[in-house]
Amino acid sequence: MPDSSSVPEVLFLMPQVNVKRVLDDLYTLREIGKYKTGVHRPTLSDDDMKTRYWLREELLKLGYDVHIDGVANVIGYSPTPGKKLLCGSHLETQNHAGWLDGALGIVYALEAARYLTESNKADVGVDVMAFADEEGHFGELIGSNSLVGNLTDEMLDKARNRTDGTPLREALARVGLATAPRTLIDRERYVGMFEAHIEQGSSLEVDENLIGIVTSIVGNWRFQITATGVQNHAGTTRMDMRKDAGAALMRMYNQIEQQFPLHAGSKTVWTIGKITLYPGAPSIVPGTAEMLFQFRDADENTLKHLKSVLEKIIQAENHNGPCEISIEMRGRSNPASMDEKMLREIEAAAETSASGKHVRMPSGAGHDARTIAQILPAAMMFIPSIGGISHHYAENTSDEDIALGAQVYVDAVTRILTP
Ligand SMILES: [Zn+2]
Repeated sequence: MPDSSSVPEVLFLMPQVNVKRVLDDLYTLREIGKYKTGVHRPTLSDDDMKTRYWLREELLKLGYDVHIDGVANVIGYSPTPGKKLLCGSHLETQNHAGWLDGALGIVYALEAARYLTESNKADVGVDVMAFADEEGHFGELIGSNSLVGNLTDEMLDKARNRTDGTPLREALARVGLATAPRTLIDRERYVGMFEAHIEQGSSLEVDENLIGIVTSIVGNWRFQITATGVQNHAGTTRMDMRKDAGAALMRMYNQIEQQFPLHAGSKTVWTIGKITLYPGAPSIVPGTAEMLFQFRDADENTLKHLKSVLEKIIQAENHNGPCEISIEMRGRSNPASMDEKMLREIEAAAETSASGKHVRMPSGAGHDARTIAQILPAAMMFIPSIGGISHHYAENTSDEDIALGAQVYVDAVTRILTP
């Protein structure tokens, strides 16, 4: 140990991350399910399970107690008796997607676990978590929702793979997890939860920042909107006699485009993900038209207000006729604020390693930290994504930015645990 009287206090305290080890781990994970320059690791696929067992092995080497629970969450419990932080992210990916989405937060958490185990800070520790199915192959943040008690057995029974329809129960049985117990987070065990992630947008890069400190995670409200008219011949049905469901849905959406900007917040976003016309033929007036519509914002009052605006638009369209439009909420996640005390520790760590190159920002993407914030103080940090590209195999971040992020992450973990 160096003579502390001759070393500036901040350098003496700052943890030194093993950059090579961090990059080696990320490149190891990149090989599992490799697809072009990215990866393809859908939840509970063979490659996904390989990464879960890889993480288990790495944590066992540190003397951790490791479990893969009944929905495939990987949970590594630190053997330390002292204060603990819950750290992690996810291992599965979107189909044919990027190598860093999720894996980055796992490897940073693992590095924090190794640093605390190897240094003389063994009185505090991190538990490492790979939250299952953050990418929603079977449902909505199934791993973290199960961990906080939001997920019933009935919901598990109903969950199906969105690509091929395989029941979740069947997929869990296939990988030997049919009878594994599900874990609930013991909230008394933790001072909080901390997740690192790539930004998946271009704000950091455009403003030449290196670290994003997340203030809140947006909520996402999703709807199916259905117009019902009368299916008929496109050549013989007079325009004044038609009940064209497709046209009604388009008129309604035109109203959304006009009215939402007047009621939305400055960072609200809204999207039609899918439009389907039935029967969907060139010479048939559609009898039914459906759209999947969503909007996101960090403020729950804005979300509530936009929902009422949407309902009024639909009421007006129904009043005008000739088609009937109905709306059904298909899912909602509410926004979550991140913990201010933890944010300040992350900010101090960022200022030490990336002075003046960090910024507070909301997250427009959903993350497990939003779910965990329901029961624990939670925090997130971002590193830049090149060109803002994510959910695509071209997703990337420079080794330098990954290394700096690891340094800030482990420093922040240490500060949160030993303020
Ligand atoms: Zn992710």
